[in-house]
Amino acid sequence: MTAKETPIIEFKGVDLSFGDTHVLDHIDLEIDAGKFYTLLGPSGSGKSTILKLISGQLTADSGDILFEGQRINNMPAEKRRVNTVFQNYALFPNMNVFDNVAFGPKLKGWPKAKIKAQVEHMLDLVKLGAYANREISELSGGQQQRVAIARALANDPEVLLLDEPLSALDYKLRKAMQHELRQIQKELGITFIFITHDQEEALAMSDWIFVMNDGVIQQNGTPEDIYDEPINHFVADFIGESN
Ligand code: ADP
Ligand code: MG
Repeated sequence: MTAKETPIIEFKGVDLSFGDTHVLDHIDLEIDAGKFYTLLGPSGSGKSTILKLISGQLTADSGDILFEGQRINNMPAEKRRVNTVFQNYALFPNMNVFDNVAFGPKLKGWPKAKIKAQVEHMLDLVKLGAYANREISELSGGQQQRVAIARALANDPEVLLLDEPLSALDYKLRKAMQHELRQIQKELGITFIFITHDQEEALAMSDWIFVMNDGVIQQNGTPEDIYDEPINHFVADFIGESN
C-alpha cells in the first residue's frame, strides 16, 4: 500500500464571518491534485467565499488553509498558483484575443517565443485557434468565456477555480462547454474546482462533489454517492429537484 499523497488544498476548521453573518462554519475539506471537484449549493451557501479563500481574495477568521501541505492563510494572492474564471468573463476589452491570453505569461516575464507557443496551445484547447487576432467585441458570449478560460490557464496554474462559468450561457452551449471543460481538465491534468448551483451539471461533470448549504458542507462524495445515498433531507431535496 502506498501512503496517501498530501492534498493539494486542505481546509481545517475554517471560519469566516462578514459582520454578524457567519458565512463559513468550520469548513474541513481536502482536494487532491489532478481531479475535477465541484462545490454545489444554492445561492448564498458560501461557495464563492471558499474560492476567494483559495485565491487569496479573502482571509479566514480562524482555521488553516494549506496548499501542498504549507499554510497559506496569509500568502499574497499573486504568489498563489491558482487562477479564477468568473461568470462575467472579465476580459480586457481593449486587447485582442492573443494579448488577453498572453497577459499572465507576460507578467511572469516569459520569453516571447514561449509566450506565443503557450497562447497558441491554450487557444487550441478552447477551440479558438483561428481567433488570435480578433477583438473581444467581435466575439459571442460563449467565445468570450473560452478566451477567459484560455487566459486563466495560460500562466500554468496548478489549480483552476471556476465560479459559475457556464451560468450565463444558453442551454445548448452550456452542455457543450460542460463536456469541453472536462476534456481540458483531463488533458492538462491539473486540478479544477468548479462552482454551480445546478445539480445536474455537478453530477455530469465531477469526480467529487461538495454539497453546501448555509456555510456548511452537508455531504461530500462521488456523484454516485451523493445521488444514491444522500445523507440528509437537504441533500436529498436539492439533488432531487430536477427529477
Ligand atoms: P454563493 O457563492 O454560494 O452564492 P457566497 O459565498 O457569495 O455564496 O456568499 C455567502 C454569504 O455571504 C451570502 O449570504 C452573502 O450575502 C454573504 N457575503 C458574501 N460576500 C459578502 C461581503 N463582502 N460582505 C457581506 N456579506 C457577504
Ligand atoms: Mg457565488
